[in-house]
Amino acid sequence: MTGTAALSVDLSTAERPILRQRGQREVFCGLTGIIWLHRKIQDAFFLVVGSRTCAHLIQSAAGVMIFAEPRFATAIIDERDLAGLADANDELDAVVTQLLQRRPDIKLLFLVGSCPSEVIKLDLSRAAVRLGQRFGPDVRVLNYSGSGIETTFTQGEDACLAALVPVLPETDAAELLVVGALADVVEDQFARLFAAMGIGRVRFLPPRQAAALPPVGANTRFLLAQPFLADTARALEQRGAVRIAAPFPLGVEGTTLWLRAAASAFGVDELRFQTATELASERGRRSVAQYLPQLVGKRMFLFPDSQLEIPLARFVSRELAMQVIEAGTPYLHRQHLAEELALLPDSVVLSEGQDVERQLDRCRAARPDVVVCGLGLANPLEAEGLTTKWSIELLFTPVQGYDQAGDLAELFARPLVRRTRLAV
Ligand code: SF4
Repeated sequence: MTGTAALSVDLSTAERPILRQRGQREVFCGLTGIIWLHRKIQDAFFLVVGSRTCAHLIQSAAGVMIFAEPRFATAIIDERDLAGLADANDELDAVVTQLLQRRPDIKLLFLVGSCPSEVIKLDLSRAAVRLGQRFGPDVRVLNYSGSGIETTFTQGEDACLAALVPVLPETDAAELLVVGALADVVEDQFARLFAAMGIGRVRFLPPRQAAALPPVGANTRFLLAQPFLADTARALEQRGAVRIAAPFPLGVEGTTLWLRAAASAFGVDELRFQTATELASERGRRSVAQYLPQLVGKRMFLFPDSQLEIPLARFVSRELAMQVIEAGTPYLHRQHLAEELALLPDSVVLSEGQDVERQLDRCRAARPDVVVCGLGLANPLEAEGLTTKWSIELLFTPVQGYDQAGDLAELFARPLVRRTRLAV
């Protein structure tokens, strides 16, 4: 929640006007990213250096019990630390030592900063170097901030991946690097499609194991799988890698354009591309078609939350023939989203940032059929008779690629069907 209320229309972008908002925001902080990242990097551990509030947030978001030996935990900063009475560094070192003695399976330890660690100015980058010297080379120790100040929840993944970039090995090889956490099943499907196109050397960031960090260099071409990775992309560009501009792999069309961008960058001819993708894309089209009767013509309003809003608005408009009233995004990265914006129908109102009360007023006035929003807004809107879909589900559910296009459509069809059943 930040800032004072302000609203303006930005006409500086030649393509389309954007409603820019500055006011109270309703978003989760970057710690939330730990929930899907700890599943992805299987020998990593995320140690949040934060308060009991931070611990509650990730425990409740993860829905796991504290004794379940998960791959994340919170080192609690208590009142003594906040008052400067204890040396938080000594306490942190003791917690890490105890953790690594008990869990020899941990190969990569992230110290994750929070609002409280930033308030007491605990320097986690120095702590990571100090602990890395003590526990390396068996355990690599890195740090990033998941603090909630001026952030949204998907920025946690961006900060985590950006922290990995400086430690990626160097390479001269001309390789494709897919950047952004994808479910293993989706990653395997993409790897098969790239192989069928003849792009043999494909790496993924983040990797499944800490020892399998993908190499990077001036001949690396990277393809973003998620639209919220601005810092990671910048760090990769500083290592000489070049981004392949593309829409994002949501829906059949998005997936085809995303794969085709990589195919063009690696000189794959059109016939080979078609042969490699036609069966899977046809399967995707058929599974999307099942949900069209429930979705065509329905009106959607997207609140700014996951930063997936613009690719989603493009997918539902073009492949599901839904009418998007407003697509809000916390931040609009014009360069990374240029291909998405070019595909978005002109009728969609774009907004960046949030002044939540005004946005709620616009949403209520529009009475959309489906509202995509954060958890904090969903219950009040449901109580007002609106049908909602939690945007965080889009990060926990495999939605990218041809074989998930139908599942993505179903995510929006399901709450509509539920609402219809409740009404009878
Ligand atoms: S990092 Fe900040 S916003 Fe996130 S749970 Fe902790 S105190 Fe709250």
